[in-house]
Amino acid sequence: MQTNFSPEQLADPHVAESEKILRNCVHCGFCTATCPTYVLLGNELDSPRGRIYLIKDMLEAGRPADREIVTHIDRCLSCLACMTTCPSGVHYMHLVDHARAHIEKTFRRRLPDRLVRALLAFVLPHPGRFRAALKLARFGRPFAGLFERTALKPLAAMLRLAPKTVPPASPASRPGVHAASGPRRGRVALLTGCAQSVLDPAINEATISLLNRLGVEVAVPEGEGCCGALVHHMGREHAALEAARRNVDAWMRVADNDGLDAIVITASGCGTTIKDYGFMLRLDPAYAEKAARVSALAKDVTEYLAALDLPEPQNRPGLTVAYHSACSMQHGQKISLQPRELLSRAGFNVREPREGHLCCGSAGTYNMLQPEISARLRDRKVKNIEATGAALVATGNIGCITQIASAARMPVVHTVQLLDWAYGGRKPEGIA
Ligand code: SF4
Ligand code: SF4
Repeated sequence: MQTNFSPEQLADPHVAESEKILRNCVHCGFCTATCPTYVLLGNELDSPRGRIYLIKDMLEAGRPADREIVTHIDRCLSCLACMTTCPSGVHYMHLVDHARAHIEKTFRRRLPDRLVRALLAFVLPHPGRFRAALKLARFGRPFAGLFERTALKPLAAMLRLAPKTVPPASPASRPGVHAASGPRRGRVALLTGCAQSVLDPAINEATISLLNRLGVEVAVPEGEGCCGALVHHMGREHAALEAARRNVDAWMRVADNDGLDAIVITASGCGTTIKDYGFMLRLDPAYAEKAARVSALAKDVTEYLAALDLPEPQNRPGLTVAYHSACSMQHGQKISLQPRELLSRAGFNVREPREGHLCCGSAGTYNMLQPEISARLRDRKVKNIEATGAALVATGNIGCITQIASAARMPVVHTVQLLDWAYGGRKPEGIA
């Protein structure tokens, strides 16, 4: 694609990066076929190619974002299916991240939108605040219908997604070291995360228990926290970079003092962002190198397990499992085979739902900020999953677990919980 940026504009490294990305796009439109919003809405401006044109236009003109571009960029799930499909290697993720930061700086949203976004950014990345908010949600739930009819519609979606009971805080989320059983064959740091540690602490418990039994020591470093993905996708660049720097410091302290083979991540949405820390902090001389090291160490738990020499499983539950590949897993991190192979090897009969490339509509805060599109994608996903005839669903991202579980009639668990069970750990709750 031909671009027309001035030398002054290209002096801004963010614009220069976006210009490079834009020039790779050859307008072929292959990406439209796999874009969930184009598939649903059929509008070119809700396709990757349409959004790329809108972003190009805005950046070239050097003008503030307007309502039209905000509408179409807000509808983008950042699912990155377009990146998997694109034959020209267009890095849509970095382009849309830049566009979102530009929108945040130059566009004034309506007051209710500003309030909802500020609330999400204040609550979700902080486990203590998130836990308190979930407990308060039961008082707000009767008003969900009322919010539905106002400009505060996202609040209704939040209340509907909030679980009725909140599990107690788990010791697995506290800083400390979980020693390997028997001879040590590895040492990793575990990102305990923000929302996942509150919604389903059993995921980190299963991860620690499985890794320890396989001879891997697990450190939960002091000072680590939310990866920053939630605010990053809202264009809040400053908050996202602060979260990234805090985590880089926490992990580098452990890596430099005691050594680390990997930083293990159990939420693929977080994994995609942490693997991008090297890019996000490339312009910060104090952090660029450390952030690149962190990105190189970051591994999804299934990626790490697949590289270990696993023993024979102790239990072979023989259940049929529909594997839902989260977008951040298959498109963001290009991890497709490992989770399926690990589950098969552990004795599960793995089924592939149709349209596996399409997002379930969770996408970070998307299911709260764009509830209608999100619900349509969820229902389509659940229909495809149920058509497999599987007894349960396995996936590797807490957002997808919450989203699919809100409509599916079968248990939805994290892949690592099934692996932990097969290799001698606890049976996940909810499985008959
Ligand atoms: S990230 Fe997903 S929703 Fe956004 S343009 Fe690409 S395919 Fe479409
Ligand atoms: S597939 Fe790639 S090159 Fe083709 S229009 Fe989409 S982003 Fe551009």
